[in-house]
Amino acid sequence: MAFDSLSDKLQNVFKKLRSKGVLTEDDVKEAMKEVKRALLEADVNFKVVKSFIKAVSDRAVGEEVLKGLNPGHMVIKIVKEEMDKLMGSDVTELKLLPSNEITVIMMCGLQGAGKTTTAAKLAYQFKNKGKKPLLVACDVYRPAAIKQLQINGEKVGVPVFTMGDNHKPLDIAKAAILHAEKNHMNLVFIDTAGRLHVDEDMMDELAEIKENINVTYTVLTVDAMTGQDAVNVATTFNDKIGIDGVILTKLDGDTRGGAALSIKAVTGKPILYAGMGEKLTDLEPFYPSRMASRILGMGDVESLIEKAQNAIDDEKAKEMEQKFRKASFDFNDFMEQMDQLEKMGGIGDLLSMMPGMSSQMKNVQIDEDAGKKPKAIIQSMTPNERCLKDPISPSRKKRIADGAGVQIAEVNRFLKQFEQSKKMMKQMSGMMGGKKRHGGFK
Ligand code: GDP
Repeated sequence: MAFDSLSDKLQNVFKKLRSKGVLTEDDVKEAMKEVKRALLEADVNFKVVKSFIKAVSDRAVGEEVLKGLNPGHMVIKIVKEEMDKLMGSDVTELKLLPSNEITVIMMCGLQGAGKTTTAAKLAYQFKNKGKKPLLVACDVYRPAAIKQLQINGEKVGVPVFTMGDNHKPLDIAKAAILHAEKNHMNLVFIDTAGRLHVDEDMMDELAEIKENINVTYTVLTVDAMTGQDAVNVATTFNDKIGIDGVILTKLDGDTRGGAALSIKAVTGKPILYAGMGEKLTDLEPFYPSRMASRILGMGDVESLIEKAQNAIDDEKAKEMEQKFRKASFDFNDFMEQMDQLEKMGGIGDLLSMMPGMSSQMKNVQIDEDAGKKPKAIIQSMTPNERCLKDPISPSRKKRIADGAGVQIAEVNRFLKQFEQSKKMMKQMSGMMGGKKRHGGFK
């Protein structure tokens, strides 16, 4: 999970700090040494670590902090604030041109960094915001690249412009913009060719596109798991062609966090988005403060609420609450609840965003497939059974178990759980005393 190993180490340092009622200057110095080691092991850029530790130390060893009421907490607060700053403090959004103009985003990066996938993810996000995107296949060297973009484009319902692999990328990009104009599209993603390493040809090609086309943003994708290499790649691209921002991919698999913590400080360019998985919905805006909270094990409650907001329809939530109250909650409703949980990214993902959870969860195996059996059981029921019109007799249980490919005992267990949770929900909504939902998730 993202930042796990760095997060664990920092939390151990903080635990020691918190346990002390009084802090001396030496205590802070010792803690800073440990923070420094943790950051270096996480592959954070050496210079960045040095200035970070200096900034925190300068603020933390003063009288005000050490003689304050809760010095341990004060030091942690300072670490958090400096970490926010390191990553840029505020979220940086890609501001698109007005809808009657074409915003051109040139996607660049090394091969395998996740450029093609990210172009589709971004196109999908903007399409959902009412933009009319076009994906343009300009990687004419890697034979599978065009096909991959077409597949991704189809998945997210965004058209893909291609001229095969016999034309110059610049000519394809020019033709694509004309095509976008003609078809009233207003957002063009140019998926350029990557290479295994930074090389002159690639840079020349990108520079040529930039010189001849009105590129609104040049966005670089880098793989978070490559740590300082990602930072070096970002520096080189920025020096050679100039970039407007970075998308950090594969953050879901990055336990160390070195790239996330260094890129802004080293290149001066913001991280715009974070790729959090292979699915085309797994792209999040990069919020420095929320990332710092995750790294410091303080959870990320804001992202959690947003996920819930996106997944849960307010009307449905109200309807569901009524059902709980009247105890008319049936198997169809149960299934709908499971779908919503899935839409929110699964239980593991959700728990990791809760304060203090990520370290506690390390040894807990989350069975993300646990929901599959109940679903299969419900799917094997008749419509009347699902809405509780037909009670589930022993012979029906046998039929359902066969249909779902499970033992009868599992059907029994599920039915018992269902009854129990129904009872509990009824009690809970009773306790709320018919109080109106005020806001809640939305
Ligand atoms: P490109 O060569 O830069 O265009 O890279 P691709 O878009 O082909 O991505 C390379 C691989 O990385 C593919 O298998 C993607 O599914 C995977 N990938 C891309 N972004 C992410 C991400 O945010 N998380 C994870 N886990 N995998 C990703």
